[in-house]
Amino acid sequence: AVVTLEVDQYVPTHKFADFEVNDLLKQNIINKGYETPSPIQDQTIPLGLEGKDVIGIANTGTGKTAAFALPVLHKLMNNQHSKALIIAPTRELAQQIEEEFRSIAKGSGLSGVLLIGGTPMGPQLRDLRSKPRVVIGTPGRIKDHLERGTLHLNTFDQVVLDEVDRMLDMGFLPDVRFILGELKEDRQSFFFSATMDAPVRTLIQTFSKDPVMVSVKTGDTSDNVDQNVVHYTSKEDKIEKLHDVLLKDEVEKVIIFDETQRNVERLMQELVSRGFATDAIHGGKSQGQRQRALKRFKETEIDILVATDVAARGIDVKDITHVINYAIPQTYEDYTHRVGRAGRAGKTGHALTFIVK
Ligand code: AMP
Repeated sequence: AVVTLEVDQYVPTHKFADFEVNDLLKQNIINKGYETPSPIQDQTIPLGLEGKDVIGIANTGTGKTAAFALPVLHKLMNNQHSKALIIAPTRELAQQIEEEFRSIAKGSGLSGVLLIGGTPMGPQLRDLRSKPRVVIGTPGRIKDHLERGTLHLNTFDQVVLDEVDRMLDMGFLPDVRFILGELKEDRQSFFFSATMDAPVRTLIQTFSKDPVMVSVKTGDTSDNVDQNVVHYTSKEDKIEKLHDVLLKDEVEKVIIFDETQRNVERLMQELVSRGFATDAIHGGKSQGQRQRALKRFKETEIDILVATDVAARGIDVKDITHVINYAIPQTYEDYTHRVGRAGRAGKTGHALTFIVK
């Protein structure tokens, strides 16, 4: 079965208060300020509560996290034997999911163990000894724990794969197949992906049972992002044009995408030397450094973040006003992912792409 939603004209059929979920979870959701479910939430939550396997075709910014968090947590609270594994392609996304789970599950006694790479094993091993019922992590580290025998998944009966397309792009298919093979046979699965090309479809078909697909992808990019280009003539002109853009009043909080770790680092240093409060995230930085940069950006200690595509994946910072493509994205999909950072939660954002004249 396939349900396709036209986001622009979508009228939600529920309020959060109407869902048949545990009162504590409902109250926490409402306390977060969520009142009306987003389209993906409106459709996915009831299916999830019914116990269906769900495939959600949705970008970041559509509210997909709560769309799976609510049914997963409801089942965990209602069934003491239930356990859930959530797999995300990047550390940052895994952390954001853990935060969302923590706020929705507040007061329930349920807490998630975060298994991500780039951080020490010690605390993870300690957390795992407490027999957690929610495990959230990236494929590499989850597999690592399975192979060491420090994690057993054969009693896990709920699984969520977030940003499946991204996971496969990053080469995680073998790890993901391995992990899914370790789970309890009789289980409920949630798959979320921005796109549904052949490899994604094959994976989902292999590992789901009679799924319902909910698709909220409408246009190619978010309708509430105003997209424009900046022309430049030379390298010198390019940095000056960027400088001019960054000085504008309406440019409050910015992500700038550049190509390689080296370019990102260089551009960051150039902007710092020009007096802009800037930090950078890329794969060459330690997990701690990335987390610190992200935190400074979230808390507006810095208002400019220079990033590579992979490092920026899944980042959810609410008040980004501008996405700047200082380097043109490699693929149209990368463009869509980048531009999706701006204009979240109904606000209009701006995307500027630098193009040589
Ligand atoms: P996500 O697509 O899960 O990354 O969510 C995008 C953003 O929207 C996050 O900052 C959420 O906190 C927020 N959000 C999700 N669902 C709702 C809702 N129903 N009402 C208001 N904000 C929401």
